[in-house]
Amino acid sequence: MKRALLIVDLQNDFMPGGALGVKEGDQIIPLINRLIEKFSLVIATQDWHPEGHVSFEELWPIHCVEGSHGAQFVQELNQRGIHHIIHKGTEKAIDSYSAFFDNDGMHSTGLDKLLKEKGVEKLYIAGLATDYCVLYSAVDALKLGYQVAVIRDACRPVYDEKEPLRSMEEAGAEIITTIDLT
Ligand SMILES: [Zn+2]
Repeated sequence: MKRALLIVDLQNDFMPGGALGVKEGDQIIPLINRLIEKFSLVIATQDWHPEGHVSFEELWPIHCVEGSHGAQFVQELNQRGIHHIIHKGTEKAIDSYSAFFDNDGMHSTGLDKLLKEKGVEKLYIAGLATDYCVLYSAVDALKLGYQVAVIRDACRPVYDEKEPLRSMEEAGAEIITTIDLT
């Protein structure tokens, strides 16, 4: 079965001390670097917002502005092992938690097309954050017909991981750990 690793939003602004820092977000980097070596196809997303993005108005502090330092991958991430980069949240008026679609479910990031071109059947997901972008990406992947495994110890939540992990499992995702793969 053709498989791919999807790394979600390992960017400076989501690291502890960043504009939208996720607690222990830095601790998953070595795990993800080890996972990268196990996959022949690795795709990474970047939250990538224009200035004045809608999500800055209410819900979130200003973060991951396109081209800024905060939007860059964390330096410790093995970027040479990443084959494709997907930008999300690029439209000013709508946010995108999912790596596949904007939150209105209409605008595609191109990830589905890429996976289909590569013949990917199973997607392994790791990154930030368990309760937002990992959750939405996993649910969309399942809806699109991919098999999904969420690597729970290679993810961290903004708030809580228990509910999102249960939601993903109920939607049909396998919940695994890096030990299952390395
Ligand atoms: Zn964002």
